[in-house]
Amino acid sequence: MSIPAPSNPPAKKSHTIAVLGGDGIGPEVVAAGLAVLHAVEASLHDVTFELREISVGAGEYLKHGDPLPPAALEEMKRCDAILLGAMGLPEVRWPNGVEMTPQIDIREKLDLYNGVRPIHLYHASHTPLKNYAAGEIDFVLIRENCEGLFAERLTPRPAGRDFETDTMKITRHGAERICRAAFQLAAKRRRHVTLVDKANVLPSMAFLRKIFDEVARDFPTVKTDRVYVDAMALFLVQRPQSFDVIVTENMFGDILSDLAAGIVGGMGMAPSADLGERYALFQPSHGTAPTIAGQGIANPIATILSVAMMLDWFGQPETIRGARMIEAAVKSVLADPAHRTTDLGGKLGTAEITRLIVSKLG
Ligand code: ATP
Repeated sequence: MSIPAPSNPPAKKSHTIAVLGGDGIGPEVVAAGLAVLHAVEASLHDVTFELREISVGAGEYLKHGDPLPPAALEEMKRCDAILLGAMGLPEVRWPNGVEMTPQIDIREKLDLYNGVRPIHLYHASHTPLKNYAAGEIDFVLIRENCEGLFAERLTPRPAGRDFETDTMKITRHGAERICRAAFQLAAKRRRHVTLVDKANVLPSMAFLRKIFDEVARDFPTVKTDRVYVDAMALFLVQRPQSFDVIVTENMFGDILSDLAAGIVGGMGMAPSADLGERYALFQPSHGTAPTIAGQGIANPIATILSVAMMLDWFGQPETIRGARMIEAAVKSVLADPAHRTTDLGGKLGTAEITRLIVSKLG
């Protein structure tokens, strides 16, 4: 999937990449992504990648007491892009009971507001839905990453209350820029944007819809729809082929991403990019999947496709060519239904499927 490159792609031909394996299956899928990146690098003219490994996550907290050390964040800012595996472990929590989520902190601190989550069906056997062939499910979910229902998650609260609240915060600035990002992407695809909200009940969502309608006027050639989030859960199962670009707030995007991944094979098939004006991070949409960590069975395709999105985002003809090479290799490998990892009902492990993809890049 082609994603919008920065307006001024860096002219340089060497790109520094911050590599954050993280926790659980994170390091395993990142290793697969890097194997693919190195294979592509060998085929590209005059483009090199310099990797900087950075320790962030629940494991880093257990070692040194901070899941996201300030020095790590500064190092990320000095790189051209960030490649992240997954972070957090169920047993490592803050005193208030919530898990450590440095991946969400990074999005907020680097203002990576635009969560781009492509959903593509690579083989009919991957979907639990009936009668969908490869390519017939193909849309992008745009998740607002920096406000919505996550906005006040770090706000200190008095202890010992008999209630707790979370706030759905939609600002004009936040809503405008995410809607604009969705329309700009749709203008390069099938020119159709669907807003997902709950405007019938929540004033914050009515406000989001008002701003969506304002932004839509700047894109007269893009068709629009507005769907309530509960109905969207239904439609994604009943008629996923009718969507092109879907835009929604943070929490709805979080939930619908998993549903969307589920109809194309699961979390191991869902890549993502978190984009801001200055920084960009690429990661599989999944979490650390601790129950399968260390067994060599994690599906690395989401991470490998996230690497392709990163090459697209670098925005130079050679890196864009590399992105297309990776997508073509994944497509070619997955066209054979025997080439499936265990989450897709197959027998291949992380290393085997990665080797197959790398072999197509020679
Ligand atoms: P988070 O809240 O951190 O996003 P999560 O609770 O949504 O995480 P995941 O870690 O994404 O949970 O896992 C959801 C399910 O998908 C689990 O059953 C997990 O084993 C499976 N899963 C996730 N990623 C992969 C993968 N790459 N390969 C195979 N299975 C995966």
